[in-house]
Amino acid sequence: MPLTLSDAPKRQGKAPQHLADLDRRERRDVVAALGEPPYRADQLSRHYFARLVDDPAAWTDIPQQVRGVLSAALLPTLATPVRHIDADAGATRKSLWRLHDATLVESVLMRYRRVASHSAELGGESDETRGSERVTVCVSSQAGCGMACPFCATGQAGLTRNLSAAEIVEQVVASARMLRRGEVVGGPGRVSNVVFMGMGEPLANYRAVIGAVRRLTEASPHGLGMSQRGVTVSTVGLVPAIERLADEGLAVTLALSLHAPDDGLRDELVPVNTRWKVAEALDAARAYFDRTGRRVSIEYALIKDINDQAWRADLLGKLLTDRGRGWVHVNPIPLNPTPGSKWTASTRVVERTFVETLSAHGLPVTVRDTRGREIDGACGQLAASEA
Ligand code: SAH
Repeated sequence: MPLTLSDAPKRQGKAPQHLADLDRRERRDVVAALGEPPYRADQLSRHYFARLVDDPAAWTDIPQQVRGVLSAALLPTLATPVRHIDADAGATRKSLWRLHDATLVESVLMRYRRVASHSAELGGESDETRGSERVTVCVSSQAGCGMACPFCATGQAGLTRNLSAAEIVEQVVASARMLRRGEVVGGPGRVSNVVFMGMGEPLANYRAVIGAVRRLTEASPHGLGMSQRGVTVSTVGLVPAIERLADEGLAVTLALSLHAPDDGLRDELVPVNTRWKVAEALDAARAYFDRTGRRVSIEYALIKDINDQAWRADLLGKLLTDRGRGWVHVNPIPLNPTPGSKWTASTRVVERTFVETLSAHGLPVTVRDTRGREIDGACGQLAASEA
């Protein structure tokens, strides 16, 4: 029997096209090509982004007989939940998603109640907080990662593939649905912040990440209507991509994963450093601040006896203040040891000394909390498996 289209094996890799991959005009073009009035594109956008409805049966403003064709063209199922695991008394939820080609990726939702000191929260620079809480979704931008940082769980397995813009957006929309339906402890809520700190190197999947940021921040109903300031893009330091990001006209926060102030050690901890050195990465970060006015965040995983010496804190303080004041914030992260790793987190005393040494340079420093640690949902622990 000849192979028909539906018998053909699913294309590995590239996700099916979805309206969250497209801008408003492109969506209207797709709808028009199907012989439907272009305003249907806006109706679909409203269902997806504003009403967070995924079931065509609920599209009562669209004739029943065209729902199927529109759904296939613009709202195919991109991700199905494999499982959700809750931690921190339900305030943290890690979700494992299966994509169309059976690829697995994870996202993490973190809900923070407003307390006196909240600056250690992920995405903590946003002024987008609604009411008295903040909800941050940590998204994956790639399945796996090609950057091979030896302390990071995702880095161990290598890169499987890039995610599409819509596959990134869908992690946020799915989280927004869970919150709206009151499935997360604390009652109904909304996503206020998105951090690209899940699996993958966002700037190595540049187009899709920018597309996703635009969809997240476009006004409702054409996008999710989030504040650009509520979005943080974290990178190992791909310098040309940082420069390009600075020119996008987006007020997103840049986080630079530095982890060492000296090239000798950083070559090991962040292998891409052999291509773009500490000084180049910091210059690009500083230029990002100049261009966008957004204070850059320097991430520094504190690894016992590896990068946590006071002299390294001092050197880091010097390198940052040499480039000016008020442009940067340091975010030490207690290492979350990955399974089988020989490395552990720095002791409390060493961590405190590291922080105080940096503070003595007049730098703002906040140690990141360790949300989701017990469910391997904390920084660097995302490594999707069905085990
Ligand atoms: N590829 C991007 C996003 C990665 S995850 C980047 O490297 O910035 C976000 C942060 O978690 C990065 O700073 C990363 O270095 C850090 N991280 C990775 N593994 C970690 C671990 N085991 N413990 C603590 N932080 C870790």
